Amino acid sequence: AKAEGKDTYRYFEASMGAEARDRRVMEHELRQAIARNEFRLVYQPQKEISSGRMVGFEALIRWRHPQRGDVSPATFIPVAEDSGVIIQIGEWVLATACAEAARWKNPLTVAVNVSAVQLHNPNFSRKVHEVLLGSGLSPGRLELEITETALVKDMPRALTTLRQVKALGVRVAMDDFGTGYSSLSNLRAFPFDKIKIDGSFIKSVDSNGQVAAIVRAVLGLGRGLGLPVLAEGVETLGELKFLDAEACEIGQGYYLGRPSPIENFSELTGVTAPT
Ligand code: C2E
Ligand code: CA
Ligand code: CA
Ligand code: CA
Repeated sequence: AKAEGKDTYRYFEASMGAEARDRRVMEHELRQAIARNEFRLVYQPQKEISSGRMVGFEALIRWRHPQRGDVSPATFIPVAEDSGVIIQIGEWVLATACAEAARWKNPLTVAVNVSAVQLHNPNFSRKVHEVLLGSGLSPGRLELEITETALVKDMPRALTTLRQVKALGVRVAMDDFGTGYSSLSNLRAFPFDKIKIDGSFIKSVDSNGQVAAIVRAVLGLGRGLGLPVLAEGVETLGELKFLDAEACEIGQGYYLGRPSPIENFSELTGVTAPT
């Protein structure tokens, strides 16, 4: 039993070492990825539910690694956050999304995800200002998506930053609503313009009474606070019909449109594929 324990320990040590090594390799590759042009943005439609009218797009990052192929942001964003390289990646996302959106023929909103590490960087609002000036994008067309977990790390700092970006005319949406904690006090304490209900609450909203009750409560909260609510992860007509009947303002999800290269929305944006 003793020998077995020792083997187990050795195995553990080896596998943890390998994992730490993998992360360091990925960190290094992420640092090079911007210069090597390995990142792209795809855009997912956000539509007014009552009319089906397109109101904006969420920019989502994609990484095509020369050997690994496509790596999911769910895999590399946490590594980028832990190592701090998210600051550079986040700036690339912001600058690219604003520059692209400034060229669209319709003045639709572009929503950009902001990580906690970016939000707590004291230069963040200055960077946003620079990017707006550099791109010429009207500030009212930019929406920053911020999760509750990003706020709680340092609430006074987060509040200062949100006030600074709001003063520029940029809008802020609370992302992944319902998955964090103390949501209600955060909604009161921070100057959000929109609530995004997390996709996990939209899945089967039309067939599960408990989920439906939660979504109705969030919609009531939005109405009470005067904030429009966006439902993410809308995958079926049934879910969309439920949301329409409950007067949810905006929807996003595979049923309304998959994240795609902007060329796929050329009728709205005028952007066509390079020839
Ligand atoms: P998120 O901000 O909650 O984004 C929504 C995710 O759900 C996206 O995954 C999107 O492709 C996916 N999705 C959209 N519609 C549906 C649907 O109907 N059903 C299902 N099952 N999924 C749907 P993606 O692009 O893989 O991104 C995952 C997460 O990575 C994002 O979650 C966000 O937290 C992070 N992320 C993505 N791009 C960026 C970025 O540019 N910066 C930062 N900081 N984080 C990003
Ligand atoms: Ca988001
Ligand atoms: Ca989400
Ligand atoms: Ca998220």
